[in-house]
Amino acid sequence: MKKEIFELFQKRKEIEDESKGSYFIPEDYVNEEGKIDRKRKEDALYAKYDENKFKDGSSWEESQIKRAKNAIGGFTKLKPQDQIEKRKTEEKQYDYVFDNSQAIQFQLDSTKDEKQLNREQQILEEKVKEEEKRIKTIEQTRKSLPVYKKRTELMQMIKENQVMIIVGETGSGKTTQIPQYLYEDGYTQNGRYKIGCTQPRRVAATSVATRVSDEVGTKVGDTVGYTIRFDDKSSEKTEIKYMTDGMLLREFLTDFELSAYSVMMIDEAHERTLSTDVLLGLLKVIIKTRSDFKLLICSATMNAAKFSEFFEDAPIYNIPGRTYEVELYYTPQPEANYIHAAITTVFQIHLSQGPGDILVFLTGQEEIENMAENLAETSNKLGNKIKELLICPIYANLPSELQQRIFEPTPKNARKVVLATNIAETSLTIDGIVYVIDSGFVKENKFNPSTGMESLEIQPCSKASANQRAGRAGRVGPGKCFRLFTKTAFETEMPDNPTPEILRVNLNGVVLLLFSLGITDIWNFDYMDAPSSDNLAKSLSLLYSLGAFNENGGFTKIGRQMSEFPVDPMLSKCLLTSGEMNCCSEVLSIISMLQETSSLFYRSKEKQQQIQASREKFISKVGGDHLTYLNIWNEFVDSGYSRQWCHDNFVQFKTLNRVKNIRTQLERICVKQSLILENAQASNISRDKTILHVMKSIVSGYFWNVARLNRGGDSYKSLKKNQQVWIHPSSAMFKLKPPVKFLIYNELVLTSKEFMRNCMPISERWLSEYASHYYTDDE
Ligand code: ADP
Ligand code: MG
Repeated sequence: MKKEIFELFQKRKEIEDESKGSYFIPEDYVNEEGKIDRKRKEDALYAKYDENKFKDGSSWEESQIKRAKNAIGGFTKLKPQDQIEKRKTEEKQYDYVFDNSQAIQFQLDSTKDEKQLNREQQILEEKVKEEEKRIKTIEQTRKSLPVYKKRTELMQMIKENQVMIIVGETGSGKTTQIPQYLYEDGYTQNGRYKIGCTQPRRVAATSVATRVSDEVGTKVGDTVGYTIRFDDKSSEKTEIKYMTDGMLLREFLTDFELSAYSVMMIDEAHERTLSTDVLLGLLKVIIKTRSDFKLLICSATMNAAKFSEFFEDAPIYNIPGRTYEVELYYTPQPEANYIHAAITTVFQIHLSQGPGDILVFLTGQEEIENMAENLAETSNKLGNKIKELLICPIYANLPSELQQRIFEPTPKNARKVVLATNIAETSLTIDGIVYVIDSGFVKENKFNPSTGMESLEIQPCSKASANQRAGRAGRVGPGKCFRLFTKTAFETEMPDNPTPEILRVNLNGVVLLLFSLGITDIWNFDYMDAPSSDNLAKSLSLLYSLGAFNENGGFTKIGRQMSEFPVDPMLSKCLLTSGEMNCCSEVLSIISMLQETSSLFYRSKEKQQQIQASREKFISKVGGDHLTYLNIWNEFVDSGYSRQWCHDNFVQFKTLNRVKNIRTQLERICVKQSLILENAQASNISRDKTILHVMKSIVSGYFWNVARLNRGGDSYKSLKKNQQVWIHPSSAMFKLKPPVKFLIYNELVLTSKEFMRNCMPISERWLSEYASHYYTDDE
């Protein structure tokens, strides 16, 4: 077979060479809008080739060429219908086209010398081998997935029902296959519509889009693309689009009917993220107004009945999956430090258990990075006394170029250890896992409407989550799950199910979005689980104090402007104020930096002192963390966005590059909204005054988060609710002497204490200036 494929490559190359310098009539491939239509251009190219090559007009040969074109699926994009046809008759056609006796005998270009030809042949042959291997493994994997056997039945049901709930074990192929089946069945009507698929997590959206692009044989952003906040890899050509649920929610702002889509698949619905829940309510309206629109709700095994009920008894389709037995192990006593326990368990498994990769569930990036470092150190020390351990972290903010590592097959004589957050519970399937180590914890965002406090808390996960996690060990064969908690804890301390996010987080962003969609009766919106009235009231009150509503409850221009920014309403308010104070550019930089503070500096035990010294160099004595970020950003800009500068200062170049990208995108919205973007210095305002304006802009959005120094001088009290809080050790203001009396913080994190992260000193006067309505009302 190889020789024939080789000839096809050869032919493709010839076709390309042949067309160089050829004359084409633009009408052949320029579409109505005047843009180049690649498909048409390709057709024109082939037509030209046929014309030149077969002047004798042999129709048999022409048809052979056409067939050959179709056989190289990776090169010529077929219409979905044609693809199914192709798939159905694939084997037969293949044999026919490559029947040696009938193959076209191409002549090699005789002007090239022998050596060059050999080299080219060698390169081509290598390419063929690679391509063959890739297609083979991809095809094999696709066909081995449980959903493959149910394709016809599933597609038939989708045809007959507008809404369907699809349930299947993780790894059965829901996310990667179903959108492709729909595409191949013509649901995009050749590019007129898109098929959308939402994911609760960024990593899942990007990684799945990468995988599916690979399967389809195109680049990410072509036929298959993704959109996540501040990163859009989709284009006009995109027909299968993966996106975070939050991004789809934002699409409603410009396209209330989702008219670009023929099918929307809400994936991982059981996660019940805030955005997914709101989407479900909005989609319920769309299915009533658009009879041509299909809605698929995909979920892991739990909760399906509830979705069906919400959508007026929509049918539930079960994809039967195969899972193997997983033995459960508990610890006899509670473990004081689950990270240490997890590290020990990894080595125990590595030294005493048979082959198979390990998946460890932790709660967040910091823990994962610490554990990765620790594992690497220990295994280095053990050297070649043990087999190699490949340590692969995966968490929400992991740069996408590192994400794919977790999917790479483990080499022989090595064992892979994946350190993951609950992202690996259901949204990502990693093949080859045989052992699971479960910390039993999860990090959750919590909002207390009575105090108005929001915090990230590490707490026991639910029984349903723990069981999902264990299930990851039983995909390839019988597995083992090591739970780092006691059986009693499992039975008595863990809730049955996770609490839907809508019941536990602040709803500021959502309320703002609903208002900008014209949904003002937020109390009676169709929620699957309605949030507490307290919580809704709190958001309304915050948005009112930010100026999003007027006294009569009407939505204001400020409210509408705020809703255009894909950031927290409090941050968008800062931007709006900065526009009025001629410091938009500075505030933009600070807000962009705030999106990426977790991996700003390198972490290295050996260079800890140097890194610390470098951090301190940037610290602003005037404005705490916010102005410190501004200093870092400004120096980076002055260096000409230099990699070397980052290296010298122990700052991560990649992080700052992401900041740059975020800043550009936010800046675009600022320009659209005509916020003044002149650099303050350029407009003759003194540096000190600018700083003052920057700080006041931040106060205008964050006056809810004010804390006052306690008498003892080591901790603070939140002004509104008298809750004791501490400055986070990572802050530029940590242990500042003397401590400032008032400060503002951006977030509260509960670890060993209630820590305030990203703090800025303020003057008490500013509160009455910017938030008099807030600090003088009820209390
Ligand atoms: P489900 O959505 O039902 O949990 P998926 O469609 O996500 O299942 O995954 C199906 C299979 O696709 C996985 O078992 C794995 O073999 C493969 N796969 C998914 N994502 C990737 C990826 N990023 N890289 C390599 N293989 C992947
Ligand atoms: Mg999935």
